Amino acid sequence: MKILMASSEAVPWAKTGGLADMVSALSISLANLGHDVRIVIPRYYPIDRSKLKLIPGAMGTPMGGGIQEWSAVYTTEMPGTSGKNPVKVYFIDHEIFFGRDGIYGNAIETDFIDNSRRFMFFSRAVFQLCRKIKWYPDVLHAHDWPAAVAPVYLKFAERVASASGEFKKTVSILTIHNLGYQGIYHKDNFDYAGLGWDVFYNGGFEDWSMLNMLKAGLYSADKLNTVSPNYAKETMTQAHGFRLDGVLRYRNADYCGILNGIDTDVWNPSKDKYIPETYSLKDMAGKAKAKKVLQKEFGLHEDPNIPVIGMVTRLTDQKGVGELFGPTYGSAWSICRDMDLQMVLLGSGEYWCESETSGLASRLSNFRAKIGYSEKTSHLIEAGSDFFLMPSRYEPCGLNQMYSLVYGTLPIVRSTGGLVDTVQNYEEKTGGGTGFMFEQLNPSSIYNTVGWAVWAWYNRPKDIIKMQERGMTKDFSWESSALKYVELYEATFKAQGMKVPVGNESSALDIKETVIEKPKKETTKIETPKKEVSKKEAPKKEAPKKETAIKEAPKREAQKVKSDKPKKPAASQPKKNASAKPKKTEAAKPKKPAAKKTKKK
Ligand code: ADP
Repeated sequence: MKILMASSEAVPWAKTGGLADMVSALSISLANLGHDVRIVIPRYYPIDRSKLKLIPGAMGTPMGGGIQEWSAVYTTEMPGTSGKNPVKVYFIDHEIFFGRDGIYGNAIETDFIDNSRRFMFFSRAVFQLCRKIKWYPDVLHAHDWPAAVAPVYLKFAERVASASGEFKKTVSILTIHNLGYQGIYHKDNFDYAGLGWDVFYNGGFEDWSMLNMLKAGLYSADKLNTVSPNYAKETMTQAHGFRLDGVLRYRNADYCGILNGIDTDVWNPSKDKYIPETYSLKDMAGKAKAKKVLQKEFGLHEDPNIPVIGMVTRLTDQKGVGELFGPTYGSAWSICRDMDLQMVLLGSGEYWCESETSGLASRLSNFRAKIGYSEKTSHLIEAGSDFFLMPSRYEPCGLNQMYSLVYGTLPIVRSTGGLVDTVQNYEEKTGGGTGFMFEQLNPSSIYNTVGWAVWAWYNRPKDIIKMQERGMTKDFSWESSALKYVELYEATFKAQGMKVPVGNESSALDIKETVIEKPKKETTKIETPKKEVSKKEAPKKEAPKKETAIKEAPKREAQKVKSDKPKKPAASQPKKNASAKPKKTEAAKPKKPAAKKTKKK
């Protein structure tokens, strides 16, 4: 099959989170199965042009209002894939839209004011790229809101209207990596899409008189999926649906969850280049060494017996950082004060949290934080910690808990999203499980569950070793996930009444396993568009050789709306001198007092 991944991020060029890892890793795995996989991303300012190959001739992309956007196209191959199954990567180089620092925003402008235009353009440029390189995909696989409009263009313009019909046999998939980010902007921006206003309604853009780019993709893509089966279920509920649960329930026959894999070449303790010494189940000496180096690097007392709790995270509300580090009510302070443990954090994100964690590190001898982004340190934390804390408010899949498991680092997680699919809660009676879980996101649940894990560390060392072993033998490789995506692609052709393209590798796995059952009642009604609505066809001729800047600067948007995020719970102040043996009232298995060993004050 010919598969085109349209994404705003892909490692090693542009990354803000798991999306970038997934797009590259899935592409490589699909290529290894024999498919022709290509990736298209924007060429952001930090991506060095001199390391890429320019495809001669500027590319014109027709947008609304008669605007023709001109861009250059660069290409290269995904590192490590040249030879038999190369993954070609294309970069859309539009200086005004992408020649700036930041993918979606920067420190001053957290969400660029022209984001709807930037990514509507990108979504349409995807088709022009195919024309330019004369390669037409069987599957257009779009990722998250920045590429969500590509399936809309396919459905309402390219597949039905394009005179040349190059995309007549192309199907579309949209993968949701995080429903919390939807690309909601003022509807005045819609003119720029170059689609008729009937598509604004029929295509699903309309969202309480605003323009919602993800919602349009969810209405228009042939099939949808998200990155774990449990998150697929959750997103169809009001609690986790970010107001799009109705759309997802409506589309549930076309919606499933496929668990992300991890890059086992990069995240593998037996061949990790970033850690001081590699290790495996047979010889865990390297893990002890990593712990020592971690403690040293973070300026902590070097002690092999004290449990180290690690965190690598974006410092955003989604990750539960309010409940953990919120001034006056967050539980990190009491955890570090009351329990005999050490805690290390690597992260960046919201300013309040960066300064709060830095402040905490200066007041506590057993808490250290590094603010910033460091691949090397993140590997050291995974290898050198004994536990890994993820108190996520929601987690579409989550990668770090999988890294932790294969590094013999026990995850302490909230039971949400992909964390439920990957971590099994500790059972004291049998010693079973691979980590520690809690249901409610609040400071005391985190406190109690960390306490529970620390209690097990000191009092049930054999269980801890068994849990490590279970985690380290888990298979989270991309191979099985890639086969499920192949099944999904095949199912999409069948659902469209099209033949599955020849040359595809058939998969042994059954996609039904991940398909969510259809709810009894449909909650939303969407009308099927009756006619083709594209206003302007793609140019058939190659654009002029010289790159020209667009004539019209994007208008300043009158109003900008960000996607809704759940609110933080009301602040609750843990009691002063909170008990050193906290009762586990909120943890999933709240039976034992938490930290038996307490810090001397
Ligand atoms: P999300 O995509 O919501 O941020 P995931 O767990 O899916 O969460 O993926 C996060 C990825 O980003 C992981 O690979 C994680 O190690 C990495 N990461 C997050 N913050 C940092 C950081 N400060 N330094 C290095 N890596 C980070």
